[in-house]
Amino acid sequence: MARRAGRPWRRFRRLVVETYGPWCCFGSACLLGDPFIDLSLPWSNPPPPGYYTVHHVVPLAHGGGLLDLDTARPAHYRCNSSQQDRPMVMSRRSSTAW
Ligand SMILES: [Zn+2]
Repeated sequence: MARRAGRPWRRFRRLVVETYGPWCCFGSACLLGDPFIDLSLPWSNPPPPGYYTVHHVVPLAHGGGLLDLDTARPAHYRCNSSQQDRPMVMSRRSSTAW
């Protein structure tokens, strides 16, 4: 499984914001009300709501590439994480009788 760690991922994060600008891709639906992303916010655990994250327009579970610039957009941590609440297609681990 692809991990969001290491130098390629960090470089990709920077590339995404350089390409699309520091603007939350949720726009008018931005949960913070202001789509501007403050890139100076430091990482913490949990991250601040306005923390810069990379949102994958095509979910990785649906064939999106982790380091695919075409399907990645800047987003706030808050906006991005709220998107992950909806159920996703999980890989089947056990045999299921239908
Ligand atoms: Zn936002």
